[in-house]
Amino acid sequence: MPCISRRIVVRYGECQKNHAASMGRHVVDGCREFMACGEEGMTIDAFKCAACGCHRSFHGREEEDKEEREGTSHASTRS
Ligand SMILES: [Zn+2]
Repeated sequence: MPCISRRIVVRYGECQKNHAASMGRHVVDGCREFMACGEEGMTIDAFKCAACGCHRSFHGREEEDKEEREGTSHASTRS
């Protein structure tokens, strides 16, 4: 029986920050995907989008359920 490990991959999608809220309108910057400014744990910029500069919380959170099979291919035959 192959070993299947499940993991949740979290992605951050479109930026939903309203840049014209003060004008009573709804305008988003059109950023399609969150890209971290820095590495997580290294700098606070990890929560800032490199493309649009908004905080990660403005980007829609998407969770992806992944199943990974292990040990089914390229098994080592070394002894
Ligand atoms: Zn943005």
